[in-house]
Amino acid sequence: MNPQDPKDPRAAAPGPHTDAKDRPPSRRAALNLVGAGLAAAPVLLAGGAAQAQIPVQPVPGATRVRRPMQDPRNLYPRPPFAAQTQPWPGLASRMNPRPDHGESSYVGSGRLLGRKALITGGDSGIGRATAIAFAREGADVAINYLPVEEPDAQEVVQLIRSEGRRVVAIPGDIRDESFCQRLVAESVRGLGGLDILVNNAAKQSAQKSILDITTEQFDQTLKTNLYAMFWITKAAVPSMPAGAAIINTASVVAYEPPEQLLDYASTKAGIVAFTKSLAKQLATRGIRVNAVAPGPYWTPLQPSGGQLPDELPKFGSDSPLGRPGQPAEIAPLYVLLASAENSYTTGNVYGSTGGRGGP
Ligand code: NAD
Ligand code: MG
Repeated sequence: MNPQDPKDPRAAAPGPHTDAKDRPPSRRAALNLVGAGLAAAPVLLAGGAAQAQIPVQPVPGATRVRRPMQDPRNLYPRPPFAAQTQPWPGLASRMNPRPDHGESSYVGSGRLLGRKALITGGDSGIGRATAIAFAREGADVAINYLPVEEPDAQEVVQLIRSEGRRVVAIPGDIRDESFCQRLVAESVRGLGGLDILVNNAAKQSAQKSILDITTEQFDQTLKTNLYAMFWITKAAVPSMPAGAAIINTASVVAYEPPEQLLDYASTKAGIVAFTKSLAKQLATRGIRVNAVAPGPYWTPLQPSGGQLPDELPKFGSDSPLGRPGQPAEIAPLYVLLASAENSYTTGNVYGSTGGRGGP
């Protein structure tokens, strides 16, 4: 028997799970990889040997899936990209090519069933990919974004609804402390609690020289990237139970700050320190705190001021993989850091950089 051959009828035979409740109701499913430009791949269902010492909840509708082996160099578009700019904060729907947030490719397996997550910047880019992944893993999700991003946000709302999960859309500006407090209160009320917080929203404005950075820019970058994380986390912690997880989005630039991102890189290094310090504090409450440090990812942050316009066409070309990442490729790290299986990981930073720099 070849358990990896979907044509082998014995491949679908149940393993140690003899209780029908434990068995996935669907024996076969198709992995839709259209978004990745790939042909549909076979989905393989293992019998499911439950080795864990801790009880594992049976997940209705969950299937075990295996992706085919893929060459990461050719999976997605490579530079050069068409020159493009957008007014800040940019829309994913206006990018060329459109980013892949996992809309048609992310397959969940119930790892966050019943969890309640708030994701800032959940309308586009890495936050949207995380929102889609969390919903497909069984979580209810609140997303925050700026009012002008409503068209992007509505696409996410529809995607989460179509998973049968609860979604709460809360537009507003996190540079305002009172809004941050309201954001958390509305999330807790709308979701019926809060056990995952993803501080992901950010402002990135490239400037060639410190002489070009105004006090206003410096202030806005720090307000969005550091103050808001502090305000939102402070408001959220009292509602978060033991077992909850906080995930902050840092960056490779915390470790390799480029000259044109002076203020932004300073905030990202600050996020790493905040994450490690807070993890020590919140360990006493059983709350884990970690960060993800992305390398170059194809998101609206970049054409809306994050890169100097003449550098955007070659975005990601200095990555050893030769291209930028797509948001769908990083969402699994957020799922991992949120999920209960990862119970000993706190105060840690996980990179996804395409091979250059990072933690
Ligand atoms: P993105 O533009 O899709 O997401 C950023 C989001 O921040 C926006 O969608 C917006 O909703 C939110 N935001 C910004 N200012 C806000 C404000 N004042 N109030 C409310 N929301 C606000 O871009 P992304 O690349 O997915 O960014 C997500 C995170 O990833 C950010 O923390 C960014 O620093 C980080 N990151 C991105 C890259 C990359 O190459 N794209 C690399 C490293 C780190
Ligand atoms: Mg956006």
